[in-house]
Amino acid sequence: MHSEGVSENPLGASELPPGCRLRIVQAHPIRGLEIWEGTMGRRLPVYARASMLTLALLLTGGVARATVSVQFNYDYATGTFVDDPAARALLDLAALQYTPLLDTLAEIDPASVPAPNSWSARIRQPTTGVDNFTIADLFVPADTLIIYVGARDLGSSVLGEAGPGGHSITYSSNPVGNAWRDLVDARGEIGEFDSPATDFGPWGGWISFDSDANWNLAAGLPAPGQADFLSVAIHELGHVFGYGSADSWFDQIDSGNGTFLGDASQGVYGAPVPLADSGHWSNALNPEPALDPSLTTGTRKLLTSLDYAGLLDIGWDVPLYLVPEPDTGVLVTMGLVLLIGVASTRRSVPHRRAERPPPPHHDAARRHGRRRSRGWTPARG
Ligand SMILES: [Zn+2]
Repeated sequence: MHSEGVSENPLGASELPPGCRLRIVQAHPIRGLEIWEGTMGRRLPVYARASMLTLALLLTGGVARATVSVQFNYDYATGTFVDDPAARALLDLAALQYTPLLDTLAEIDPASVPAPNSWSARIRQPTTGVDNFTIADLFVPADTLIIYVGARDLGSSVLGEAGPGGHSITYSSNPVGNAWRDLVDARGEIGEFDSPATDFGPWGGWISFDSDANWNLAAGLPAPGQADFLSVAIHELGHVFGYGSADSWFDQIDSGNGTFLGDASQGVYGAPVPLADSGHWSNALNPEPALDPSLTTGTRKLLTSLDYAGLLDIGWDVPLYLVPEPDTGVLVTMGLVLLIGVASTRRSVPHRRAERPPPPHHDAARRHGRRRSRGWTPARG
């Protein structure tokens, strides 16, 4: 006698963010040198950088709160280079750039709800490229994103593509079913349902890497001509975390001017931030962010303050020491300074978002292609 509904968020090729494919740029020797000038924080070995983050978390009590973790799934990577230990280790390193995030994401446990409540995850299968590939009854631990990785031939100039996963949720039309539906959709990040959206709570997603690029699969810096796998992994993770894919990202784009209006991002850049397309920062920024649409061969890019600011604007709880104001400099300060900075700025965080005015322009074409539909489609009586 109960009625139920199905919430579909299919993942089709037409709905993929247009800018999610990272392009390769052949290194110009001068450009290769320039990339490292004036970017002290980014020149640190990634292990050292990770240690600094850990130290800062310890000093600020951050370890007492949940931090987001990434669980890579290799079920569909068999036989590809991504399944090799070297690539796996670099993916784990890439995820460390995102693990300072302090969000609390609800566990998705299909066994915890009575029938007919259920769900299936949707991905673009990362090794075949098949869209709307379905994974039924996926269990997603709390505070964790599950990301399916694989490799296939993406063409000569594309290094990777990625996105958050879709879903199909079946739910009963009662409080338990409605709660299940919203939990799977936003994992407690309910600002995702606002208009404009202010948060994002994906279950995870997928990343494909190009199968025939000249990859650097070492933790050390890439040789000339090599595409740095760590850099591409960091970039593609950004799309899973909402760059060019979350409503809360799109809702802050001024499409008329080609800029991003998020408060934190503007705070770092000093003005509306130029975009290359609807999913990437401009290629012309300095220091070069990880989330611009290209990577120069022979170079490495980690997340910059602007990249972290974009994540904060998407709705992630980014510790403020990663998003300095322009006059506080880049991330080269020592722990005590970090402590003071965090203590003095943290209080203002919750209010930043509420004060953000809606963007002056909306891109009608983009709205049409929104990844996430808010309308629930009743299916059966
Ligand atoms: Zn991209």
